Amino acid sequence: MPHDPLTAEQREIRDLVRTLARERIAPRAAEIDRSAEFPWDVVELFREHGIFSTLADEEHGGIGASALMTLVSVEEISKVCATSGLILAVQELGALAFKLAGADEQKRAYLPRLASGEALAAYALTEPGSGSDAAAMRSEARRDGDEYVLDGAKRFITNAGVAQVYIVFAQTDLGAGHDGISAFVVESSAPGLEVGRSEPKMGIKGSRTGEVFFNRCRVPASNRLGEEGGGFRLAMRILDRSRPGIAAQALGLAQGATDFALEYARSRETMGEPIVKHQLVAGMLADMETRCEAARGLLYRCGQMIDAGVEGPELTKLSAITKLFCTDTAMAVTTDAVQVLGGYGYMQEYPVERMMRDAKVTQIYEGTNQIQRLVIAREMLRESRALGGPGR
Ligand SMILES: Cc1cc2nc3c(=O)[nH]c(=O)nc-3n(C[C@H](O)[C@H](O)[C@H](O)COP(=O)(O)OP(=O)(O)OC[C@H]3O[C@@H](n4cnc5c(N)ncnc54)[C@H](O)[C@@H]3O)c2cc1C
Repeated sequence: MPHDPLTAEQREIRDLVRTLARERIAPRAAEIDRSAEFPWDVVELFREHGIFSTLADEEHGGIGASALMTLVSVEEISKVCATSGLILAVQELGALAFKLAGADEQKRAYLPRLASGEALAAYALTEPGSGSDAAAMRSEARRDGDEYVLDGAKRFITNAGVAQVYIVFAQTDLGAGHDGISAFVVESSAPGLEVGRSEPKMGIKGSRTGEVFFNRCRVPASNRLGEEGGGFRLAMRILDRSRPGIAAQALGLAQGATDFALEYARSRETMGEPIVKHQLVAGMLADMETRCEAARGLLYRCGQMIDAGVEGPELTKLSAITKLFCTDTAMAVTTDAVQVLGGYGYMQEYPVERMMRDAKVTQIYEGTNQIQRLVIAREMLRESRALGGPGR
C-alpha cells in the first residue's frame, strides 16, 4: 500500500469523488467542451452526492468544513473535467466570504444553500478597468437609509447568470483607496442586477464567464459582509484560501493528462516497441509525474495549513507559491502530454488538447502568476527584514 497523507475517512471521500468523476463526469467532458453549455447535470450530480458538503460545518448544513477535502475533490473532478472542478472551486470562493466575514444570521441564511448546492455562488471583484489592480475598481455602493445603492460593472465573472448569490465588492468611500472598499451579498433577483453576454473562451468552455451590471441596485444594509471599508482586506483573505482551489484544478488537469499520456505511451508502438520504452518519452513522463507529485505536496500542505487555522503572511506566501507552482505545472505538463501523443495529441478526439487549453486560464485567474511572484517576493522581503538578514 503506498503511503497516503489522507486519513482513512478522507480517503473514503476521495474515492467516492474519484469514482463519480470517472463514471459520471468523464463521459460528459468532451461534450461540455464542444457545446460550451453550463453543465447543470453535473451540478445536480454534486447536489445528489453531497459534493458541496465539505464547504460548511454541520451547523450550517455541511459535513464539517475542510479545505483539504475540498481541494482533494476539486483535484479529482478536474482530472477528468476542469469545467466541473471549477464549479466546486467557485462555490468555495463564495462560501469563504461568509465563513470569514459573515454575521451569524448571514451564515445561517447562506451557508446551507451553498453547502447543499441549492444556490450557486459568484465572486465579483474584477472590472473592465481593474483586474490585477483590484483596488482601482470604480463600482460604487452609496448608503441610503437602511439600504446601499450599487452602481457599476463587473467583468469576467465566473457563474454570471447561473449564480443566485453574488459576492460583490464596491467603493463605499471613493477617496479612501483600499480602505474605501466594502463587500456585499447580492441575490440574483435583486432589482438592478443585470447579467451581460457570456464570453466565448479558449478553455473551460462549459463555465459561464460574463459581465454583471449594477444599475441603482438596492440591497438592505444588512447585506454588507463585514465592516464598511473592510472589503479589500476580506477579498485578499478569501484569495489566500481560494487560490489553492485553482491550484487543485490545475493539479487535476496535470495528473489527468499524465495518466492519459502514460496509457497512450504503453500502447502506441514505433520502431518495433511501445513509445514508453523510448527513453526520451519515458523521461518526459517521469518529469510530468515528478512535477505532479511536487505540486500535490504543496497543495495538501496548504490545505492542512488552512484547516489548522494558520492566518496572515505565512498563509499568503504558501498559498501564492502553491497557486504558482501547480498552475505552471499544469501548463507545462499538459503541453508535454500533447507531445507524447504526437499528432493525435493535437486532435480533439483525445482529451489532452482540451486539457492544455483548460490549463492556460489557471495561470491567469485569481491573480495572474506574475502577481503571485510579486506576492511571494514581497513576503520573502518581509521575512528577511524581520530576521535582520539570512536566517534560514
Ligand atoms: C475565465 C476567467 C474567469 C474569471 N473569473 C473571475 C471571477 O469569477 N471573479 C473575478 O472577480 N474575476 C474573474 N476573472 C478575472 C481575473 O481574475 C483577471 O482577468 C486577472 O486577475 C487579471 O486581470 P486583467 O485581466 O485585468 O489583466 P491585467 O491586470 O490588465 O494584466 C495584464 C498583464 O499584465 C500583468 N501585470 C499586471 N499588473 C502587473 C504588475 N504589477 N506587475 C507585473 N505584471 C503585471 C498581468 O500579469 C498580465 O500578464 C476571470 C478571468 C477569466 C479569464
